[in-house]
Amino acid sequence: MSARAPMAGGEFELIDRYFRALGAPRGDVVLGVGDDGAILRSPPDHDLVAVSDTLVEQVHFPAGSPPQSIGHRALAVNLSDVAAMGAVPAWALLSLTLPHRDDRWLGEFAHGFANLALQHSVALVGGDTTRGPLSISVQVLGFLPRGSGLRRSGGRPGDRIFVSGTPGDAAAGLAVLRGEPFTGPAADDAEARDFLQARFEYPTPRLALGAALRDIASACIDVSDGLVGDIGKIAAASACGARIDLERLRPSPALARAASPERAREWLLAGGDDYELVFTVPAARLSRLENLARAFEWQEIGELTAGAGVTLCEQGRPIDLPAASFDHFG
Ligand code: ADP
Ligand code: MG
Repeated sequence: MSARAPMAGGEFELIDRYFRALGAPRGDVVLGVGDDGAILRSPPDHDLVAVSDTLVEQVHFPAGSPPQSIGHRALAVNLSDVAAMGAVPAWALLSLTLPHRDDRWLGEFAHGFANLALQHSVALVGGDTTRGPLSISVQVLGFLPRGSGLRRSGGRPGDRIFVSGTPGDAAAGLAVLRGEPFTGPAADDAEARDFLQARFEYPTPRLALGAALRDIASACIDVSDGLVGDIGKIAAASACGARIDLERLRPSPALARAASPERAREWLLAGGDDYELVFTVPAARLSRLENLARAFEWQEIGELTAGAGVTLCEQGRPIDLPAASFDHFG
């Protein structure tokens, strides 16, 4: 905490009350919150994986979002990056910038963060607390068996492309929160809209899937900026192209009910904030992937190709979708 921006009520008391013993107790935390730094014991024969992500109010979540959702998302977006590396998370750091002290807000924020941390045995081991416009920066450290791990760059032409879960839901959920009109076949279905909203507010990091794919997938990324853009990043890093077969890409039942087919497709392809995994699998390892089918849900949606860029195909023919949907990706 900077002495120039003290937090009313005392920053030490605040940290002590909300963040000292947050998350899972872990034997590898030699020294946690309270000193100048944490002391952490890495397991032998493992590589350390480090990720960091920041959420800024009105950029990454609407002003006035439920604090529990903000706490959940701040950790979830980082755990999703850990999942995309095929790693297992262990420790988190939390840098919190708050406009003022609000104990109800802090309690609910810590609760949202802690619930998810406990689910994945993550300990909060340190951070920083300052005053300013609301922003939450989290770092997570995790492990990989030495020499293992998933990268964006391992794909080859012919590898099949898969996505976990049902992308597009989170972008639709954000539209629900913003009060945007829905024109689907059951646009006023409250259950569908609640489902979509929860997919934005409480995304599920796919940690078990990421770890299971470690020796199976050739490349992996988590979908934070939209499916097409993020598949483009795998293709670019792997020095190949990608084809997405649109007829295979299925919206969730909730998205199909709430949104028109055109809007659902836009969200599926270009909506952000899903935190699903996109991964590629060489033909020779497809049977090993099939062994995981009972435990996880995914859709096969296309193939890496020779060439460059992402091509959208319908019944085998390349199609042009309105450029506006993809402006986001340049
Ligand atoms: P310093 O003055 O050495 O930077 P701080 O007063 O910022 O220390 O923090 C004191 C202790 O509390 C440190 O262990 C720090 O990691 C921890 N800490 C501060 N803010 C947070 C937070 N938001 N969440 C978790 N730990 C925190
Ligand atoms: Mg210090």
